[in-house]
Amino acid sequence: MFECSIAGSLPKPFWLAETDKLWPAWKAAGEELAAAKRDATLLWLKAQEDAGLDIVTDGEQSRQHFVHGFLEFVAGIDFEHKVTMGIRNNRYDAQVPQVIAPLTLKSRAHQTEARFARAHTKKKLKFTLPGPMTIVDTIADRHYGDKVKMAMAFADLLNQEARGLEADGVDVIQFDEPAFNVYMDEVRSWGIEALERASAGLKCKTAVHICYGYGIKANLDWKRTLGSEWTQYEQTFPVLARSRIDQVSLECIHSHVPPRLMGLLQGKDVLVGVIDVATEIVETPEEVAGTIGEALKYVPKERLYPCSNCGLAPMQREIALAKLEALGAGTAIARKRYG
Ligand code: ZN
Repeated sequence: MFECSIAGSLPKPFWLAETDKLWPAWKAAGEELAAAKRDATLLWLKAQEDAGLDIVTDGEQSRQHFVHGFLEFVAGIDFEHKVTMGIRNNRYDAQVPQVIAPLTLKSRAHQTEARFARAHTKKKLKFTLPGPMTIVDTIADRHYGDKVKMAMAFADLLNQEARGLEADGVDVIQFDEPAFNVYMDEVRSWGIEALERASAGLKCKTAVHICYGYGIKANLDWKRTLGSEWTQYEQTFPVLARSRIDQVSLECIHSHVPPRLMGLLQGKDVLVGVIDVATEIVETPEEVAGTIGEALKYVPKERLYPCSNCGLAPMQREIALAKLEALGAGTAIARKRYG
C-alpha cells in the first residue's frame, strides 16, 4: 500500500552538469560524460532506495532537459539553429529547435540509461518521456504546418520508444504533460488522443504527469494570476478518467488545487504530490503523512501513490535528498496510520 516515488527528475551533481539550472551545460564530453551519467544514475538509485521509495527512476541524469533529451534522437529536427519561442501559452521564452523535415527516430533514445538503471536496482523502475502536446509546445514547426499532425507524428515516435523501454524491463512509463494545464480545450480535442497513441499497446503501467511546473520564477508569477482556487483540473480529469492511461500524477501539497478534484479520477491510480518542489523548505514526515490523509478523503487507499508535485531537477542536491527522505518516512507513517 502507498507505493511512493518521485515525478521523475533529480538534480545533477556538480561534476556532471551545471547546477540550479533547467538547461544545464554538461561538464564533460564523450566517454567521460557517459561515465559521469552512469555514476550519477547509480548515486540517485541508491539515494531513492535508502529513502525507502518503492518505485525509482534514473533521475533523468542522462538528459539535459525533459523534452529536448528525447528530441536529440529524432531526425527531422534542426538543433543548430534554435529560435526563441514563447512556450506554455507565452508564459516564458525558451530557445527551441525547429522541425524541418518528416520526423523519424534515429535510434532508440533512452535504451542505454534504462537498461543501466534496470541492471542496478531490484525496485520497480519508472521511466519518463515528454508527452506529445508538451513536445509540440517546446519546438518550432517549419515543416508540418499543423500542430495536431505534428503531435501525432511525435506520438508515434514516443510509442516506438516506449515499447522499447517496456522490453528493457521498465515497469511504469510516464508521459510528462505540463501543457495539459495550459491548453484545456486542446486536451479534450486532441491531447488525450495523442497521449493514447503514444501509449498504445503497452502492457506495463502507463502514467501521465500534469502539474503547474517547477518552482522557477516564470511559473511562480503565473501561479499568482490563477486566483485562489485552481480548477483547471476540473476540465481535464473527467477526460483523463475515461482514457486508457492507468495513473495520473498531480500536485497537491501547498497547491491551490482543491483536493476534491482528485475524486474526478475514479478508476485511476493517483500519484498525489506530497512534496513541494517550489520551496526549499523540507517537509516533515508528519506533514507528508498528513497530506496523504487529506488525499485519502478522495482517493481510495489502494489507488493512492505518494509522490512529489513535480520534478526535483532545479533544486539543490542536499535539499532534494532531504525531500526524498521526508517522502519515504512520511509514507511509512501513513502506512501505519491508515493501513
Ligand atoms: Zn511537473
